[in-house]
Order: sequence, then C-alpha cells, then structure tokens
Amino acid sequence: AKCDQGGTFSKGELKRFGNIELNPSAGVLNYGQGLFEGLKAYRKEDGNILLFRPEENALRMKMGAERMCMPSPSVEQFVEAVKDTVLANRRWIPPQGKGSLYIRPLLMGSGAVLGLAPAPEYTFLIYVSPVGNYFKEGLSPINLIVENDLHRATPGGTGGVKTIGNYAAVLKAQSAAKAKGYSDVLYLDCVHKRYLEEVSSCNIFVVKGNIISTPSIKGTILPGITRKSIIDVAQSQGFQVEERLVSVDELVDADEVFCTGTAVVVSPVGSVTYLGKKVSYGDGIGKVSQQLYSVLTRLQMGLAEDTLNWTVELR
Ligand code: PMP
Repeated sequence: AKCDQGGTFSKGELKRFGNIELNPSAGVLNYGQGLFEGLKAYRKEDGNILLFRPEENALRMKMGAERMCMPSPSVEQFVEAVKDTVLANRRWIPPQGKGSLYIRPLLMGSGAVLGLAPAPEYTFLIYVSPVGNYFKEGLSPINLIVENDLHRATPGGTGGVKTIGNYAAVLKAQSAAKAKGYSDVLYLDCVHKRYLEEVSSCNIFVVKGNIISTPSIKGTILPGITRKSIIDVAQSQGFQVEERLVSVDELVDADEVFCTGTAVVVSPVGSVTYLGKKVSYGDGIGKVSQQLYSVLTRLQMGLAEDTLNWTVELR
C-alpha cells in the first residue's frame, strides 16, 4: 500500500452494538493506524435532533487521515453515516437539558500488515452512547495540574490530529493527576517547557480583561471545533481574541481560565497548580466562561436562533 491512499468507502449497514472481528495483524493494532472523532446530538424542545457542525468533524478526520497515511470517507459520506446512526438510535437521545447522545466515529487500518507499512484495507464505523450533562449543576470548575515532564505531542508529530496514540501518551500523566485529586492535566510545549498547549481532551483559554488568549494551532494541539466556535462567539460578544504563544506565567495574572471541548463544552478552571504552587480563580466560575457557555449551549440545543448555520436538524 502506498501513502496516497485513494480508495473509496462503500456504504455500510446498521448493526447492533457488539464486538467486532479484527485480524491480529491489523494496522491499527500493530502500528496505531487509527483516528477517531467525537460529536454530540442534542434533543430540541420540539423533539427534533440537532447535530453541531458535523462537517467540521468530517474535515478534521480527512486531515488526520492524510497525516496517518489512510484513506478517509468523503465529507458527505461521513455526515450521512452520522445522521443514519443517530436516527437509528433516536430513542437513546435524552430529553432536552438531561444530556445528549455522544457520537464516536472511528477510522482504522483493518487490513493485515506484518512489516511496517500502511494497512491495505480500512474500516470506518460509528457507535453512540447517551451521556449526561458534564456539569451536574450547570457549570462546575475543574482543577488542573501543569505537567512538566511528560508531553503529549512533539513538533512534527501527530499532536494536531485525532489519532489514538495521542491518547495513549497522556494516560500516565492523567492517571497520576487524578490519583492526586486533580481533574486533569495541562500540557506545556516540549521545546521551551513554557508555553501552554492543551488539556488531555480539551483546549485552553486565558481571560485577562477584555482579551481572551488561546494557544495557536501549530501542529501540536488538536484544532478543537468547540475552540474554533468559541473564538467566533467571543468575538461576536465583543471580546478580543488572540491566538498566540501563551506562557504558563500568564496563568498567575489571569482573571479567568476555561477549557473547551465537545465533552466539556465550556468548562471553567477553578485552579491551576504549577511546580507546587496553586493559583485559584475566585469562586472558579468566571463571568466570561459563564457567558460563553450559555451562548454556545443555547445554540447547540436550539434555544437560540442559529444565524451562523452551525446546526443540522434531524426529525
Ligand atoms: N484537545 C484534545 C486533545 C481533544 O481530545 C479534544 C476533544 N476532541 C479537544 C481538544 C477539543 O476538541 P473538540 O472541541 O473538537 O471536541
């Protein structure tokens, strides 16, 4: 197999959730040739279903596939497969305000390879699971610890794509942080050990006055779809947004810090611990985080008019 993997995906079928069969020498099992995505379906008040920017997930998977030497379904195929899967599982979507349906598309090298090479065959599948609200009572702050030794991504590596190996790289630091009572880990760049990168499964923003700063996309952090959406929302709410190198020292003077991601939506950071020193942010639920959370979730749940055409409605 060559790396300019053309190839086409034929339409699959809906199956009951269960184990799948895989060749022991499948590319994904041996050489980590796998990508995934994550998005949510929300129930509207009228019972219809809303997807949030699914074509962005399709495009991110395409970009990732290119880096991982894999073919990928077209944007149309991806979105159609998501719609079909969601509609077939519509009875599992919680009522509005009670959670959402988490959608997990997977793309993997399923064909057999022995020597290191891209797999000769690929499988795309989607599974779903209802999830509760990440925050039981609206917003609840998370406590982060800055990791100084372990890194999730290196320049030129695969940190900018949603490949399975990136998540294996964070398990050790994340487990250690959780065992010490922290919610999650904040990673630094591995060259200077000074600039903020992201959290294990979300992007990070630092608020100072009217300026909201976030690490720029430069190949080592995941280009979050929530990140991109929050940048637009914040600008439309009159904030100045800066995508740049954000030093870990800026956490000390920040008014607020928050994280964004499909799972966490907008999650205020209550405290960050760095080299044994803890910085706390008021009661942990900043005004700006609260405002952006509210604007975004109202859009995602169909409670606000979707002037940007970000949602796809299924009935
Ligand atoms: N960074 C990482 C490492 C992630 O796994 C995720 C979750 N996909 C994000 C950021 C946030 O991305 P999104 O907003 O697209 O969910």
